Parts: sequence; structure tokens; C-alpha cells
Amino acid sequence: MTEKVEIRGARDMPPMAKSLGRMSWNKTGSWRNVTPVIDYDKCTSCMLCWKFCPDLAVTCADPPEIILEYCKGCGVCAEECPVDAIVMREGL
Ligand code: SF4
Ligand code: SF4
Repeated sequence: MTEKVEIRGARDMPPMAKSLGRMSWNKTGSWRNVTPVIDYDKCTSCMLCWKFCPDLAVTCADPPEIILEYCKGCGVCAEECPVDAIVMREGL
């Protein structure tokens, strides 16, 4: 069983969220040429994808969702997912 991220305060927030926040003009979805897709049959809602996404494109919800207009397709979420529930697909 994967340990879940606990949010107890600002110290537990993703680094980019603390420094920048998700601003309405900071939409990086047009940069993307690969798209993360969550397999909800595998997802354990550990929230590591939310914690590591540099663009706050992952919602802090159970289960998380990826807001594609903020996702630049960097693949960090797929790398960090401990159960390989995120695959990067070619295209938008
Ligand atoms: S690929 Fe994943 S980590 Fe990268 S911006 Fe998109 S949702 Fe965030
Ligand atoms: S997609 Fe992976 S990293 Fe994200 S909440 Fe689900 S199991 Fe955790």
C-alpha cells in the first residue's frame, strides 16, 4: 500500500504552488506534445502526482484529475507515480 501525502500546512504544499501558484495566465497546455492519462483502476489516490507537478495541473481531489490547459506534458507525474498509473500518450 502506498503512503498517502498528508497536507498539514504550507510545508506540505508542492514547491511550485508555494512559489507561483496557478495563475490564469500561466496556461502551459499549448507546450504539450504528450499527454498524461491516469488509469483509475491502478490509482491509489496517494497524491504524489499533485505534489510533484510543476504546473499545478493536477487537482487535489480523490481521485486526482489532470487539467490539461495547465499541463505541459513534462512527464514528472508519470515518473513519480509509485504504481505506474499514469501513462504519457502521444498527442494532445
Ligand atoms: S505532465 Fe504531469 S507533471 Fe507535467 S505538467 Fe502535466 S500533469 Fe504536471
Ligand atoms: S495517479 Fe499515481 S501518483 Fe497520482 S494519485 Fe494516483 S497513484 Fe498517486
